[in-house]
Amino acid sequence: MNVLVINCGSSSVKYALFDADENMLISGKRERLGQKSDDRKETHAQAIATIFSELGEHQIDAVGHRVVHGGEECHESCLLNDRVKAEIERHIPDAPMHNPYSLAAIESAQNAVPAVPHVAVFDTAFHSGMPRRATTYAIDQDVAKRHGIRRFGFHGISHQYAAGIAATFVQRPLDELRLITLHLGNGASACAVEFGRSAETSMGNTPLEGLVMGTRSGDVDAGVLLSLLRSGEYDIDALDELLNHQSGLAGLSGLGNDLREIERAAADGHDRARLAINVFAHRARKYIGAYAAAMGGVDVIAFTGGIGENSASMRGRILQRLEFLGVVLDEDRNRDASVVSDKDFARITTERSRVEAIVVKTNEELMIARESRRVVNASTAKPNQAIPIAISGRHCHLTQETFEKLFGKDATPTEYKPLSQPGQFACEERINLIGPRDRIDGVRLLGPLRSVDQIEISRTDEFKLGVDAPVRDSGKVKDSAPITVEGPAGTVHLSEGLICARRHIHMHTNDAEQFGVNDKDEVSIAVVGGERDLIFGDVLIRVKDSYALEMHIDTDEANAAELGRGASGTLQHADVDDVAENVYENVSKVHANVVSVKPKL
Ligand code: AMP
Repeated sequence: MNVLVINCGSSSVKYALFDADENMLISGKRERLGQKSDDRKETHAQAIATIFSELGEHQIDAVGHRVVHGGEECHESCLLNDRVKAEIERHIPDAPMHNPYSLAAIESAQNAVPAVPHVAVFDTAFHSGMPRRATTYAIDQDVAKRHGIRRFGFHGISHQYAAGIAATFVQRPLDELRLITLHLGNGASACAVEFGRSAETSMGNTPLEGLVMGTRSGDVDAGVLLSLLRSGEYDIDALDELLNHQSGLAGLSGLGNDLREIERAAADGHDRARLAINVFAHRARKYIGAYAAAMGGVDVIAFTGGIGENSASMRGRILQRLEFLGVVLDEDRNRDASVVSDKDFARITTERSRVEAIVVKTNEELMIARESRRVVNASTAKPNQAIPIAISGRHCHLTQETFEKLFGKDATPTEYKPLSQPGQFACEERINLIGPRDRIDGVRLLGPLRSVDQIEISRTDEFKLGVDAPVRDSGKVKDSAPITVEGPAGTVHLSEGLICARRHIHMHTNDAEQFGVNDKDEVSIAVVGGERDLIFGDVLIRVKDSYALEMHIDTDEANAAELGRGASGTLQHADVDDVAENVYENVSKVHANVVSVKPKL
């Protein structure tokens, strides 16, 4: 699927066409677009029309549009329809520099290629799961509700991308990491990415809050605005102009918004330029400290955006005094850090730094293409298509070495019957498990032999054996439970290898496309229509071209849902975690109530 990405700024349009392997086939930018109808400059709509004529013969299967503000209703990427467009329009007052131009670009692109799906990817979406304590302003909640005043956050596409790259850099799963991403460009924001989700971000109800930006003030005491209004010198429009266009680096330095100019002037002793740099760095450092505190720690700090990617001196200044957090800057690496190609990153901390800091080249276009592809695939998926469920009894996978110790030198497994996954088979051979409390005999071996020993049992089996085996993905046996295994020719004590297998679904790549999921995604599967309906959450997707579509659960899980042979389930696109979160929230409300009725002592 070739996805054309259209990224509209207030006076520019960037575009890029990606093929199915994420190769960028063509890209470009049109700048200095007119913002008013009487500007006599090319408008966004006209620019889009020209872009399509330039794309010529290229095949376009979907178009992904970056949209800055989606509000509460559009909290994730979605197909563009009239309802979604109405929401984007409704939020024009909250993003006056962006949403009107995005709408114009969307209309123009839909006219150019009406037959392909168009997807909106929102800057606000990544932050939509922020906890209420982070989205709520401490003002009268009735007023807040009436006027939709809450924190949304922006730059979500860039923060999400940088977080993904940071996880790749430390080679750990995103959902184990605490990250702080700093998108520092003309617009600037910080984000606390806790276990893969945005937990806090510096932009709020509008993209004006937070860090110092090119021409935007970021945080200002709201009392100052009242004073300026009271002074009579400022009306609403003048205040808007002051805070959005005459503040930030430009307002501080008096030299415009380009940090390169400001850094040059500061080196020549320009006092206001120095002040601008110091205020910018100080504010960013404050947010890093605050977010580390909010998350209870930080593993990686990632810099991106025009300033974050290019200004070594600003990065160095921001990271000053953060040794107490475990950040040790490597001056040489920082000076030499260069991220020119996409998917690029550079480390700027020393080997002994407990917290890593990296520079990431932002690639919002690639992120938008990915999201668009996911949305289109999910929309054409057949979510009600049944997924066959196979119930795995306890079984084992053995290495050649262990097999020979149990069954004799030069013994080889004998196939008993083939299994549904191509190349896999059940064997005639069985082994006995000997636990501290009891034993289980006759556990079937599955072939072919593997490179590590892995014994898969159910929770009930664990009670019988008197062991505590962790729930693990197949193949991840490091530090799992020990067990003694017995065969006709000998006994072996395995120091690890005993697991309770995590429920999972094997899928061919074509199935994954159909269902709109990716390898390692977690999904929920509903089993309904029987006596004990159940939704299985945390089901791992495993995609390989050699896999046949099948979900694997163990006997305990099957019994819980009263499943037998020929069972099937359906993939749920609503995340069961969301349901769980609501439950937790309600539970804590109940607790709160209980506390509040505690009798006075
Ligand atoms: P962005 O909005 O992400 O394109 O960032 C634009 C800003 O990045 C410019 O206004 C510059 O202030 C800043 N920038 C770009 N290159 C450099 C550089 N080499 N050194 C310092 N600042 C830079």
